[in-house]
Amino acid sequence: MAGNGGRPAIGIDLGTTYSCVGVWRQHHERVEIIANDQGNRTTPSYVAFTAAERLIGEGAKNQVAVNSINTIFDAKRLIGRRFNDESVQSDLKVWPFKVVAGQGDKPMIQVTYKDKQKQFAAEEISSMVLLKMREIAEAFLGSTVKDAVVTVPAYFNDSQRQATKDAGLIAGLNVMSILNEPTAAAIAYGLEMNAGSDIDKNVLIFDLGGGTFDVSLLTMKQGVFEVKATTGDTHLGGQDFDNRMVNYFVEEFKRRQKKNIIGSPKALQRLRTACERAKRHLSLTTETTIDIDCLFEGIDFFTTVTRAKFEDLNMDLFKKCIELVEKCLTDANVSKSSIHDVVLVGGSARIPKVQQMLQDLFNGKELCKSINPDEAVAYGAAVRAAILGGNATEKIHDLVLLDVTPLSLGIGISAGGGVMSVVVPRNTSIPTKKKEGFTTAHDNQASILIKVYQGERTRVSDNHFLGEFLFANIPPAPASSPKIGVCFEIDANGILRVSAEEKATSQTCGITITNENARLSKEEIDRMLQEAMKYRAEDEELKRKMEAKNALEVYVYKLKNALLDQNITTKLSPAQKREMGEAIEEATEWLDCNRFSEVLKFEEKQHHLESIWNPIITKIYK
Ligand code: ADP
Ligand code: MG
Repeated sequence: MAGNGGRPAIGIDLGTTYSCVGVWRQHHERVEIIANDQGNRTTPSYVAFTAAERLIGEGAKNQVAVNSINTIFDAKRLIGRRFNDESVQSDLKVWPFKVVAGQGDKPMIQVTYKDKQKQFAAEEISSMVLLKMREIAEAFLGSTVKDAVVTVPAYFNDSQRQATKDAGLIAGLNVMSILNEPTAAAIAYGLEMNAGSDIDKNVLIFDLGGGTFDVSLLTMKQGVFEVKATTGDTHLGGQDFDNRMVNYFVEEFKRRQKKNIIGSPKALQRLRTACERAKRHLSLTTETTIDIDCLFEGIDFFTTVTRAKFEDLNMDLFKKCIELVEKCLTDANVSKSSIHDVVLVGGSARIPKVQQMLQDLFNGKELCKSINPDEAVAYGAAVRAAILGGNATEKIHDLVLLDVTPLSLGIGISAGGGVMSVVVPRNTSIPTKKKEGFTTAHDNQASILIKVYQGERTRVSDNHFLGEFLFANIPPAPASSPKIGVCFEIDANGILRVSAEEKATSQTCGITITNENARLSKEEIDRMLQEAMKYRAEDEELKRKMEAKNALEVYVYKLKNALLDQNITTKLSPAQKREMGEAIEEATEWLDCNRFSEVLKFEEKQHHLESIWNPIITKIYK
């Protein structure tokens, strides 16, 4: 990794529900997936705000039951989108936290932090998760980390990718590249290695995560992957499997105790946490227990659940996954037998039944599962990060990344029946200029509404809408006779201008699409970066406070024990005993009332106690 001065470069899988970070270990010649401070190799993509502090990851998820309105998750579902997006509108109906429309129709997440109302962009929340992943890596490596590769779903459009990059910037990271999640998983398996061969290789990536299911078909030609098709379900994953179990046990509790816990969010959340744990167990064993003390109105809940029951509860969802794989193959017009590799990705792809059903679909073919499915994406990102961190490759890869359109651009016209006509195919180098001819659908049609879309899906409704304009005043003529040329021009900055021209009259009309509304400006990013640094400093301050408070508590405890130790007390005068006893009592009381005091105050208190105790103890042991 000489290109960036030997600095370590990390790979981050920024997931909707869980994130994962990996680094290439040069001496060991392999990727290390880094565990967080709780010893877990994936970290919840959660951020929580309380009256006293900000929590990211495990700490945030653990307190969701008592602070749901200020605990943010699913930021990935918001990033790079507009508030009025259909998907945002339907998601926010089920989120416990509040999302409001900000400037330029940007969705803003509203929380109460330290008793003040605050609004955060999705980029800022994601940047906090990225910061956590960075810190996990820094703690492991023992050095600061700047360079990173961050992954995104293959179907992410330009503005979602840009916003993810911005999140990295706000986290103080240099995002060397944004990598497609399925491509990262394929890289993890070294599937790009036989670069010399001329034959296209087809790779199917099956990614079943916490909240989403993505199937992608990649082709690999001479070591370069291309996403050929993506399908999936944006609301299908591990959380649904958890919910099925929760509902089942709610019924069981009702049957056994004649009580309904549905009304208690806290009980439900505790049951959900227990179910997720049980589900993970059932990927390893065939039976497990659920044991929750005082679940509801003081009643304990103890029960067992088998793998068979879990499968039975979710069979229709598993079947849906398999159907979507078939759909992906049909869409891409590729037969099962021409798939060379099937790669398992996502935590829920660890479920044995899911693996078996997928293997059966491919007539018993061995699946790529030697790397933990929920770590495969971070693994591949770490490999890419190591390569980009190297000398010459950095420039080459960066150029390739900056200078092509990541997704196809095209138009949908009413006459086209909702089908996307691609004008600029994906991976076209920019700057570029491409023209396509269109015509009218009806006799004497006077205008055409030209809608511009970005994406790989066949139907425009499945793609990302960029903008529209009305091309009017078309001279009366029979259907299909006017010749209208539509021109897409992308400049070196990636700004797209779409124009249309009617040949007979030379009339032109067009729009410029910059995505400016949804995108953060340089000033906004700078401001958010400043704030991020401020929050980080506050977090660190709080940590120092907690350490100082803890040190004082430990010291008081030590003194209390000393006063119970006969070897010591027999050597103390009654006045000394009284003085110490009073000092300890005073310190204990002070601690009770000053739990959130300043570091200095805690230290002062400790020095005060030391100034009384040290002379006494040194005299005794002289
Ligand atoms: P994301 O979807 O956010 O990218 P992951 O791919 O890490 O996240 O998937 C997280 C989901 O995987 C969670 O619902 C989690 O409960 C589930 N999961 C993790 N490990 C297992 C396991 N051993 N068996 C079944 N499900 C698991
Ligand atoms: Mg994922």
